[in-house]
Amino acid sequence: QRALLQEMKGKETVTLSGKHIHLYSNIGGIQDVDAVLENDAEGIGLFRSEFLYLGCDDYPSEEVQFEAYKTVLSRMNGKKVIIRTMDIGADKQIDYFNLPKEDNPALGYRAIRICLTREDIFRTQLRALYRASAYGTLSIMFPMIISVKEITRIKEIVEEVKLELAREEQPMGEVELGIMIETPAAAVISDLLAPHVDFFSIGTNDLSQYTLAIDRQNQSLDSFFDPHHEAILRLIQLTIENAHKYGAWCGICGELGADMELTAKFIQMGIDELSVSPGYTLELRKRIREC
Ligand code: PEP
Ligand code: MG
Repeated sequence: QRALLQEMKGKETVTLSGKHIHLYSNIGGIQDVDAVLENDAEGIGLFRSEFLYLGCDDYPSEEVQFEAYKTVLSRMNGKKVIIRTMDIGADKQIDYFNLPKEDNPALGYRAIRICLTREDIFRTQLRALYRASAYGTLSIMFPMIISVKEITRIKEIVEEVKLELAREEQPMGEVELGIMIETPAAAVISDLLAPHVDFFSIGTNDLSQYTLAIDRQNQSLDSFFDPHHEAILRLIQLTIENAHKYGAWCGICGELGADMELTAKFIQMGIDELSVSPGYTLELRKRIREC
């Protein structure tokens, strides 16, 4: 089995009918890049940047972030790297953020909601990202989106940050902007969101939690949790259709992307990209080549 998988290295990730599926990796930091390269992934589909914030006892500076992003982009040597802006809050609490105590943190102050109300943190991260964009092929994506209004505001801030960096004569690359589809709201209005972005990445971990109203961390509810629930699959299908209707591409970066029982279905739905833990890359490539 291992030898069979090794054979998948260097092979194209292509279906029997010739459609190429972009097969990317999820990472939590620089230390995971070795595994990405070792398993011959074609890029990074989700860099959970919050791990940079979790690893220290004060806000990581622009310089610290810039170095981290630059290292990942350089090591990927021109392959696509999608960095998600920090998703703090809910299950990822950090003392120095001084977040308010909440009864329902998963439904609370997290991710883009923090970024859009504490803009200093957001702008620092965006500056680091755009500076790093000169060193590879960077895409940025934003978590926990529920509305067009949020995207509009994000893009205003992004434009201001880019203008500032241009005035400082900092080199920058072309950067694709996308959003995570991980709330039912975003999936349902994906037709309204798609015209504003380059791509969608479906976060099935949160999308499942919010669609089924089942806490993703509460194992005592496992008997009620059905990862293949028709509601989740329909939201994924709708999201892919709407992305394509408005010229965006669509991937999956949640755990469901590595569920090989669903690979054929996702391909049928028109999925463009699957981003999974590095360890699943070769097995998934093999599976895709059989579809
Ligand atoms: C998701 O929600 O599916 C996702 C990829 O993001 P995270 O698991 O980091 O919340
Ligand atoms: Mg999520």
